[in-house]
Amino acid sequence: MNIHVVTLFPEWFLAAAGLGLTGKALASGELRCWNPRDYARDPYRTIDGRTYGGGPGMVLMLDPLIELMSELKASVSSTARVTAMSPQGEVLTQARVKKMAQRDTLILLCGRYEGFDERFVREYVDEEISLGDFVLSGGELAALALIDAVIRLRPGTLKRAESHEQDSFSDGLLDCAHYTRPEVHPLGRVPETLLSGNHQAIARHRRREALGRTWLRRPELLAQVSLNAADTRLLDEFRADWLAQNLSKSS
Ligand code: SAH
Repeated sequence: MNIHVVTLFPEWFLAAAGLGLTGKALASGELRCWNPRDYARDPYRTIDGRTYGGGPGMVLMLDPLIELMSELKASVSSTARVTAMSPQGEVLTQARVKKMAQRDTLILLCGRYEGFDERFVREYVDEEISLGDFVLSGGELAALALIDAVIRLRPGTLKRAESHEQDSFSDGLLDCAHYTRPEVHPLGRVPETLLSGNHQAIARHRRREALGRTWLRRPELLAQVSLNAADTRLLDEFRADWLAQNLSKSS
C-alpha cells in the first residue's frame, strides 16, 4: 500500500514509521509526506491567510495546495480517492477501515488552523473522515489513527489473521475479555472454561461474553446486528446471570 499524506508537520509521521507493527508495515510499503510549505511561492512561504468575514482563525490557502495536488496526482495517481481529515466528516468505523484497507493508495489531507479553503475541498476532496465528535488542532493524529487501523488489517501485518477477525466491531460486537498467566492470582481466577481445552465450550463462552459486553456497554451496536437463535440464547443466559449477580449485590 502506498500512503501519501499532505501535512505541514511531516515529523509526526516519521516518528510512527519507526515504531511497532505500523512502522514495520510502512517500511515495506511507501509512506510519503507532502508539505504545502514546499509549494508556497512567496519569500515567506505563506500557506495560510485570514478568514474572510473576520474572526480569529487562519485558513489554508488555495494555491500552494493546488500546486501540491497537481504534482501529487501526476506522480502517484490521478484516480486514487482523496481523503481529508475533518471533524465534519463521516465518523471512522471498522467497516470503513476495512474498505480503505483494500485500496492500493491512500491520499490523506491533514488540515491545520480553521482547515482548508472550502473551494479546495469542493474541487479536490472525495471524502471527509472524522475521528469523532471532538476537535483536534490538526489532522495528523487523525491520519495516524486511520493509517494504524488500516495497516493492521493488511495481509502479513498481524501474526495471525484471526486476531483481527475477533477484534471489537469486526462482526459488529465488542471483543470478549482476555486473560493470561497466572491462572490464579489475588485479583481473581481465570474463568474455568478457558482452561478446559474444550474448543467448542471456549468458543461458546467467548461468544456469550462478546454478546453480553456489547449489551452492557454498547447496546446500540447490538440493535444493528441480527442474532441467530443460538446467539439469542447465549445473550439471554448472560443477561439472566448478570441480573442475578447484580440484583443480589444491590439487595
Ligand atoms: N474549524 C474547524 C476545525 C478545524 S481543526 C471546525 O470546527 O470544523 C483543524 C484541522 O484538524 C482540521 O482541518 C482537520 O484536518 C483536523 N481535525 C480536527 N478535528 C478532527 C477530527 N475530529 N477528526 C479528524 N480531523 C480533525
